[in-house]
Amino acid sequence: MTEPRKLTERKIVLATHNPGKVVEIGELLAPLGLEVMSAEELGLPEPEETGTTFTANAELKALAAAKASGLPALADDSGFSVAALDGDPGVYSARWAGPSKDFRLAMELVKDGARATGSDDDAAWFTCALTLAWPDGHCETVLGEVHGTWVWPPRGEHGFGYDPMFIPEGADKTFGEADSDWKHSVSHRALAYAKLVTRCLSDGS
Ligand code: IMP
Repeated sequence: MTEPRKLTERKIVLATHNPGKVVEIGELLAPLGLEVMSAEELGLPEPEETGTTFTANAELKALAAAKASGLPALADDSGFSVAALDGDPGVYSARWAGPSKDFRLAMELVKDGARATGSDDDAAWFTCALTLAWPDGHCETVLGEVHGTWVWPPRGEHGFGYDPMFIPEGADKTFGEADSDWKHSVSHRALAYAKLVTRCLSDGS
């Protein structure tokens, strides 16, 4: 097995145009002494997410930004999956909310779709693929997942997206009822970032 590539550059691009993600990821990376620029700041185009897996989408976004900027680039792709729906909405999680980004509607679609299958399997999970790509085309990708069950009706006002209909294993409240510190301690995104730090951003000492 080849060794993972370590990040030696101090400046990286965040391949996202989402200001919330820029803040969140910037905070996460600040203690590592990295200078973080966003794809928007650099005027980079936003590629279409044409992949059919989280990994494919994270890699295509990170590679596009790395090649266009000449700097290492970090991108993530995430979503919500339901066992009764064979993993849908999955990579289409944002699209299920429609152009008006109506996640109440998206959650209704999940509930109606899962119930229509007649399955009593209520398993659900969030996935986050995180890719660090270099301008020469090299990619390091890690995956974080948090497993649990979907519930109806949705509960709680915290978080975003599908948070109010997901209870992680071992908990009795939804991500929507959780404070952000608790969610960040168990979430798919936190897990993926921790893995990437170990893999590419720490010197192993
Ligand atoms: P993307 O990674 O920005 O493409 O996000 C995909 C979609 O997945 C988001 O719009 C949310 O609907 C959903 N999603 C991803 N992570 C979470 C989460 O932590 N909570 C709730 N929904 C999420």
